[in-house]
Amino acid sequence: MRPLLKRWTRREIGRLAAFTLLAPHVARSQSRPKVLVVGGGSGGATLANCLSDGAVSDVTIIEPKRAYTTCFFSNLYLAGLRTFAELTHSYDALARRPGVTMIHDVATMIDPATRTVRLGGGATLSYDRLVVAAGSAIREDTIEGYDAAAMHLMPHAWKAGEQTLTLRRQLEGIGLPCIVKPVHLGSSIGVGKADTVEEVRALLPAIFRLDNQALLEPFVPNLVEYNLAVTRAGGAVRTSAIECPKRAEELLDFRQKYMSGGDGKIGSKGEGGDSQGMLSLTREINPALPAALEANLRRWAAAAFEAIDGTGAPRIDFYCNEATGEVWLNEVNPCPGSFGYFLWEAADPPIRFTALLSLLIDEAVARHRDSQLPDDPVPAEARLLRRP
Ligand SMILES: Cc1cc2nc3c(=O)[nH]c(=O)nc-3n(C[C@H](O)[C@H](O)[C@H](O)COP(=O)(O)OP(=O)(O)OC[C@H]3O[C@@H](n4cnc5c(N)ncnc54)[C@H](O)[C@@H]3O)c2cc1C
Repeated sequence: MRPLLKRWTRREIGRLAAFTLLAPHVARSQSRPKVLVVGGGSGGATLANCLSDGAVSDVTIIEPKRAYTTCFFSNLYLAGLRTFAELTHSYDALARRPGVTMIHDVATMIDPATRTVRLGGGATLSYDRLVVAAGSAIREDTIEGYDAAAMHLMPHAWKAGEQTLTLRRQLEGIGLPCIVKPVHLGSSIGVGKADTVEEVRALLPAIFRLDNQALLEPFVPNLVEYNLAVTRAGGAVRTSAIECPKRAEELLDFRQKYMSGGDGKIGSKGEGGDSQGMLSLTREINPALPAALEANLRRWAAAAFEAIDGTGAPRIDFYCNEATGEVWLNEVNPCPGSFGYFLWEAADPPIRFTALLSLLIDEAVARHRDSQLPDDPVPAEARLLRRP
């Protein structure tokens, strides 16, 4: 059976593009039309290449960069499967094509009335047909706090080139051993330690069965964890007691972390007295800490909470290298088990579980009320139609 649609070769598509782009002009004039292409990315350069093939036009490409680095395949570069040179393409071969002129400059103004394009270097070029293939750019002023300096610290790598190199350097800086874990499943499910790149690869399939994103982070030796909760329910922002989980193993898995309190009973919530119970076997509450460290943990936890305009009583977990004293904010746990009641019972002043729940419910009701529109948002004097 014959296929319904003809299979087009790239050369034929190029000829069709040239015909579509130039046909009306060719009908008006016998001279070779001048095509100006702004942007020598994959779009502009491919089009210029196709047009030059038919030798029906003069094509001038305006492109500031001397070489083009592709976004595509940057994932392979980040994974160490391709070199940066393999992502980078010079314009030499394109510039040698018949009828192609390459100008390394930037287009600063297009005037369709006079059919001219002004360049940053001062020249003005005329055209018969203009192709704008300038791609897209990252705006640095749209996300509060994520300005050009922050983009250098936390590269998005959407713009190939320096951003891709920065991200690769950061990934290499993680070094080995490293921790590999799912992004969305807390701090114990699917978490593994990898001593080699092969071990990283071996851990990933299990993670991608649980989650669609994996996180690689430096392994912190001499690890001590400090967790504390924050809330503004009932007034000003305040922090809870500090918890230091006890560890027998290098990594605490889910069972050790949440089910090692004896028959799954890990303390009891209640109005009367201290409910630590079996909890004290697995964690130390309010450990003796240097005053500066404790003050910093409380200050950083409150700052993180306020930065995200937090509500409820999230628990904020810090990692500390006990030997060097370095501390990292590792995770914000928005809804810790049982709302971290034991942290609040041991806070100064203490908040009992029932009181904590009441504060959280009051805050949730108030927040919900604040986020509602009034029943009828149109002011009475602005109503065109009488309300029933
Ligand atoms: C991380 C990432 C991965 C991707 N992976 C894939 C993939 O696997 N497969 C796929 O098909 N696509 C992929 N894409 C999308 C692909 O990169 C883009 O669709 C493609 O680059 C768009 O081509 P373009 O020529 O329109 O723009 P660009 O490639 O952005 O090129 C635009 C060019 O215009 C130049 N320019 C800008 N302003 C001016 C000016 N005023 N004057 C002169 N020149 C100017 C720029 O210097 C640039 O060279 C990916 C994109 C990203 C960000």
